[in-house]
Amino acid sequence: MSIADSWRIEKTSRPEPELSAVLDSFITAMRREEPRVLGFPGNLDFSYSHLAGLLDVFVNNVGDPGSREKSDVNSKSMERAVVEFVAELANADPVQTYGYVTSGGSEANLFGLDRGVTVLPEARIYASAAAHYSIHKIARLMNKELVVVDCDDDDRLNPKALERLCRSDAGRGAVVVATIGTTMTGAIDDVALLSQAAAAAGDVYVHLDAALGGLLVPFLGEERSWGFACPSVGSLAISMHKALGMPVPCAIALCRTQLVDDHVRGEYVGATDNTLGCSRSGLAAALLWYALAGKGRVGLAAQARSALDTAKYAAKQLADIGCNPVLQPRSIIVVFDRPPEWVCRKYHLATQSDRAHVITVPHVTRDIIDSLCRDIGGTKR
Ligand SMILES: *Cc1c(COP(=O)(O)O)cnc(C)c1O
Repeated sequence: MSIADSWRIEKTSRPEPELSAVLDSFITAMRREEPRVLGFPGNLDFSYSHLAGLLDVFVNNVGDPGSREKSDVNSKSMERAVVEFVAELANADPVQTYGYVTSGGSEANLFGLDRGVTVLPEARIYASAAAHYSIHKIARLMNKELVVVDCDDDDRLNPKALERLCRSDAGRGAVVVATIGTTMTGAIDDVALLSQAAAAAGDVYVHLDAALGGLLVPFLGEERSWGFACPSVGSLAISMHKALGMPVPCAIALCRTQLVDDHVRGEYVGATDNTLGCSRSGLAAALLWYALAGKGRVGLAAQARSALDTAKYAAKQLADIGCNPVLQPRSIIVVFDRPPEWVCRKYHLATQSDRAHVITVPHVTRDIIDSLCRDIGGTKR
């Protein structure tokens, strides 16, 4: 790919006003599109610009959030508060739960699956055909076999199919990825049923990929039964730049405390470190603390319910114009017939063969849904 002149980095320094002007036009272009970004799970309704002071300090959370490393220039006190809050949302006992802020959902999935295959080294990894592609990458990196299990008609991992496959693995155990909000439809796997089904292989370790749904399901029914309430669940991943809204990608990885240890990893840093990296973004942890403390459980619940209402509204409007929408229970993803290409592009829709979807994260308004429906309706006349 060629590099446009405005982006090229020259041998000599460029004047600050020129650089700012280039960036300002970048920001303006991004913001212009925002209201019409309907196909992706990132909530764009946020503002952190008054926290710009954080951009003038280097905040590096090396090692475990609970470990004090030598450099001691970190936001770990905020990170611990974030982890405790999210652990409670996930029905974990904060004292019995380890967690940290990762670079994104994929790293949080890698962390959880690494714990799972450590506990059950003979086990294969099972995930549904609708699981996120990061699971495939992770299995490849771990040199582990990934068994792809069929979905039922509602895009959920089919427990009967899982049981059949696990029966031939009797004695090896099973590491199962349950998806809490699949990427295309937002479907939520039934963790209790999957755990039962996988027991045909022996011991069961379940990792929850709640990258998409982790800040929604705690508020949309079954708040007490999801997450670590199920004893076979060992770990959980939740992306924080999706429902919450963040200017940088980040996620939370959680696991049961007995799955980590407290060895100091390297005299150089002097920290205990069960994370997958070394340096980690203290900026992300500070912004997360600010966002979560500002909303609280009550604010998150209101946001989740409002997103669900907008999804139901979108499904109704799309049905009225004959687009065959499908909305899974407790999902904010509406899947419908793929409109003409210019509509997909105008509204940044995600598409898969003859279907498209919108995700009603908080910046998606009813007005913009109406506008989408008008544009689709116009093409049908
Ligand atoms: C978004 C998503 C991921 C990946 O998370 P990133 O934060 O983008 O790395 C994994 N699984 C599911 C189900 C997702 O929706």
